[in-house]
Amino acid sequence: MTAIPRQFEQGPLDSASVSDASTSAGLTAQHDWSIEQSRELYGVGRWGLGYFDIDPRGNLSVTAPTPAGHRSVSMAAIIDGLHQRELNMPVMLRIENLIDDRVVQLNSAFAEAIAQLEYRGAYRSVFPIKVNQQHHVIDSIGRSGQRFNHGLEAGSKAELLVAISSVRSKESLIVCNGYKDEEFVDLGFTACQLGYKCFFVLETLDELDLIIRRSKHFEIRPLIGARVKLMTKVEGHWAGDSGDRSLFGLTTVELISAVDALQASDMLDCFQMLHFHLGSQLTNIRNVRDGLKEACRFYIGLVQDGVPLGYLDLGGGLAVDYDGTASTQPHSRNYELREYACDIVETVMESLDANGIDHPVLVTESGRWTAAPMSVLIFNILAVTNFDPDELPNPLPHDLCDPVLEMVKTLNDLGKRRLQESYNDVLYYRTQVRDLFKAGKVTLRERALGENLYLKIVSEIVARSQTLERVPSELVELSESLSDIYYGNFSVFQSLPDAWAIEQVFPVMPLHRLDEKPQRKAIIADLTCDCDGKLDRFIGAEGEIERTLQLHRLKSGQPYYMGVFLVGAYQETLGDLHNLFGDNNVASIRVTETGDVEFVEEVCGDTIAEVLSYVEHDPAKMLARFRDKAEMAVREQRISVQTRQQMIQLFRASLQGYTYFEE
Ligand SMILES: *Cc1c(COP(=O)(O)O)cnc(C)c1O
Repeated sequence: MTAIPRQFEQGPLDSASVSDASTSAGLTAQHDWSIEQSRELYGVGRWGLGYFDIDPRGNLSVTAPTPAGHRSVSMAAIIDGLHQRELNMPVMLRIENLIDDRVVQLNSAFAEAIAQLEYRGAYRSVFPIKVNQQHHVIDSIGRSGQRFNHGLEAGSKAELLVAISSVRSKESLIVCNGYKDEEFVDLGFTACQLGYKCFFVLETLDELDLIIRRSKHFEIRPLIGARVKLMTKVEGHWAGDSGDRSLFGLTTVELISAVDALQASDMLDCFQMLHFHLGSQLTNIRNVRDGLKEACRFYIGLVQDGVPLGYLDLGGGLAVDYDGTASTQPHSRNYELREYACDIVETVMESLDANGIDHPVLVTESGRWTAAPMSVLIFNILAVTNFDPDELPNPLPHDLCDPVLEMVKTLNDLGKRRLQESYNDVLYYRTQVRDLFKAGKVTLRERALGENLYLKIVSEIVARSQTLERVPSELVELSESLSDIYYGNFSVFQSLPDAWAIEQVFPVMPLHRLDEKPQRKAIIADLTCDCDGKLDRFIGAEGEIERTLQLHRLKSGQPYYMGVFLVGAYQETLGDLHNLFGDNNVASIRVTETGDVEFVEEVCGDTIAEVLSYVEHDPAKMLARFRDKAEMAVREQRISVQTRQQMIQLFRASLQGYTYFEE
């Protein structure tokens, strides 16, 4: 077991947090705090899936299934291991045991439902490669999925190449979705020639002509599926994936044309799969049932029309409970895996039995559910800005302008009037001070005093409003506007793109000091120079969205680590190079049967030279140009030759360095 690093050891609270009972963020300093309270505050028991929890020392812990049972390791030990391997923050941590476990759970749930309900067909899972294309992830899924004949879903040529080269079992499915050109189709036929079960799922009718033509060339009877547009409307962000106007799949008219075209080419027996995809993150199980019922009608109709079928592919959509509410909120779902599997098996049986049709092989393409839990983004906090007022000068300067004097009066009278009234006044006086400053009638120092008085008064108002039964909404927002800004060593655009693009909420919390009361309210800003580069939507204790997160005061000389959880799906490749922050370091770990941490694989993030070359700069030429400039400076006697050498060394080292903040 790795030693606990120094920064995680329990130290006495530093003097700042003991003596400073500042109430600016509406929190009074107290030291009675337990890890149970942290568990409640950050909701880890609700979204942690049993994988994440807090250990008695106040560190976040990872509990991973191993062949010898569950084993827990402290995040402190993992971070220590990252340091020893010089993997700088930010790090995307992947926990291999968790992806194994998801694959096992998914397949077991369907196996149980099938056995329990006496379903007469099999289940085949496929992993949609677009959800996380990283080699190590695909490889892990291949390994843990082998015994279940877990397959892969490809939506492009590049993904199909990955699927063909990584699929392990001839019983596993390769499902080709997406728009296909001739090369895509030929690659699929190659997989068929090698003996793999590769399905071409029709997205358009044009593809069918192509597939029929190439099948004659290859002299292979392909496995063909059709993706249908369902009318069933679903809730949540991905509602557009179904309905008449969805971008994907065949209309009913096109479906019948496909049947006729296949019949005309004497290839109707090749039509073996019906495919639909209602959208990702299906929050409501009733939508799943409704969509499936509609799909079953298509299935029955096709069989009655002479199509053999045999496979029913439900696409993705199995949702992750990001906010831990187990509800139909957008970041949650109102069902469990077992219920999902049972409902699917049951619905298909009910529909098909009534029509005397054989049970098909059920396929799901569950990407988000499978991949999300394995990855945790870890970063450190670099600095904090707070909006606490400074001490007022004592005594106050003479001859102050009227609005500043009024503010002093407002401060002294705070207890005597309604808080909202005091707030209205102080806002008014602050505007007056600012206007006078603009008109040249108030000095810079006097304006600073006015701004400080404003902060002093509103932080006092926020503190007092905590005792009110009903806090006026303006005062709630006031409290948020006074929250700290914690600057994190990461880029939202690179590592958490959905947090920016579609307002996805992920669980975020500190990884240590969870036995201490977090006394500050904060938002988290990233390193980019972009006002969207921040996390300011968090999961509240009741699952509601909060605009601030409670965090600990930084201790001087000690790092503060935070984690963003459930980020293994979609985040790693949707990210971009905003401000030229590149890929972050990645570490894959495995928790062993003895409860140790094995570092299985490390991938160093982009160097600065790499990201520069992505945008067509040539680092070698940049260095040469820099050297010329330095040499010119030597000639002009601005710098010595030694300085020139130091400069060139710095430039060269920077090119080879990490794009993020380095200690
Ligand atoms: C994106 C996608 C999936 C994966 O959906 P999840 O919600 O991540 O399970 C599956 N099938 C198709 C066709 C998709 O486009």
